[in-house]
Amino acid sequence: MSKTIAFFGGTFDPIHYGHLRVCQEAAEALQANVDLLPCARPAHRAVPLATPEQRFAMLQLALEGQNTLRANRHELDRPGNTYTIDTLIALRTAFGANQPLVWLIGADQLAQLDRWKDWQRLLDFAHLCVLTRPNAPHLPSHISAFLKPQRAKLSELSMHPAGLIAGLNVTSLAISASDIRGRIENRQSARFLLPQAVLDYIEQNKLYQQPELARAAAQLLR
Ligand code: ATP
Repeated sequence: MSKTIAFFGGTFDPIHYGHLRVCQEAAEALQANVDLLPCARPAHRAVPLATPEQRFAMLQLALEGQNTLRANRHELDRPGNTYTIDTLIALRTAFGANQPLVWLIGADQLAQLDRWKDWQRLLDFAHLCVLTRPNAPHLPSHISAFLKPQRAKLSELSMHPAGLIAGLNVTSLAISASDIRGRIENRQSARFLLPQAVLDYIEQNKLYQQPELARAAAQLLR
């Protein structure tokens, strides 16, 4: 079986140490590289304030100087709303039937999995590895019941290409992109919540200072 590859999707508006730290820990636990994929047009949440290219540029800045975590622009280059199922189908096609693929997902996102397009088919194409997140809501019983037969140990994921779900306890960092955006809007410091190079980029490009204006512009460009 080839070496596992893991993927972590998000809006990354902006990327912060919560994202980076859990990906680093997942990479070590799974002995895998982790590709971070900024989503272009999320279907289930407000349009991001930074453009897809700005979010990708911030991701690249955050990942400089190491190669365990990698910036992947696959979802940016696909037109229309971004759905994880489409990404997983494309990845499976690209990597072939035998490659172990793992989709990393925060526990907060898992609790809303039933809002994702074709959520019951995700495991046909990849494993899910659920990362603990502070204050994540309780998992609804119908999602838990659906996933229960697929539950496995983390060490089993590398032995199969797809179809299993495992949990990973990661360091709790109660950092969120919305909190960072709020601080910037309120002229408070966001230093030490995200890499300084990303913060410098945010300042240079005047991101998140006027969210209403940015949101209107983002809607127009969508
Ligand atoms: P926002 O505050 O705008 O909702 P966010 O900080 O939750 O953003 P996203 O880009 O929406 O970031 O999240 C991408 C993925 O990262 C999700 O699976 C989410 O659960 C996970 N994640 C985000 N922040 C953390 C954190 N501090 N610890 C663990 N997982 C996190």
